[in-house]
Amino acid sequence: MTRTHRYRACPLCEAICGLDFQYEGDALVAIHGDHDDPFSRGHICPKGNAILDLKRDPDRLRTPMLRTPDGFVAIGWDEAFALAGSRLAQIQAAHGANAVGAYLGNPNVHHFGHLAYLPALLRALKTRNVFSASSVDQWPHSTCRSGQAATPGS
Ligand code: SF4
Repeated sequence: MTRTHRYRACPLCEAICGLDFQYEGDALVAIHGDHDDPFSRGHICPKGNAILDLKRDPDRLRTPMLRTPDGFVAIGWDEAFALAGSRLAQIQAAHGANAVGAYLGNPNVHHFGHLAYLPALLRALKTRNVFSASSVDQWPHSTCRSGQAATPGS
């Protein structure tokens, strides 16, 4: 079968490597680095290649799932967003704004929807509990044992 190529940028981190998605018919069969990409020049990391496993994974969630006493049931996106919004509001009304936390990852800065709406959502939540990979494993590294910020070179 003839193999066709679709060239895209990897969305997983700021390196934005060029990816060569290879198809046989409609089936995605391989992902390689794009040798013509001016930045990555054919190099990718295992995460870029693993997008193929992610796409093929039979356990991949493709719709929101609602936990019920009888197990998980699939629901639509409108219902899921409405439920999440109402539950967040209930939790904050009962326990305060800081009862809700947010954990932000790298892909947020590579997604237009997140860039446009995530700051507004965080402002609306009014929680001080906002975490990221940096706050979990990078900022503590930059702080000395006494809790004082480390000075450059210390
Ligand atoms: S292939 Fe790896 S290094 Fe390149 S953008 Fe994707 S995640 Fe980042």
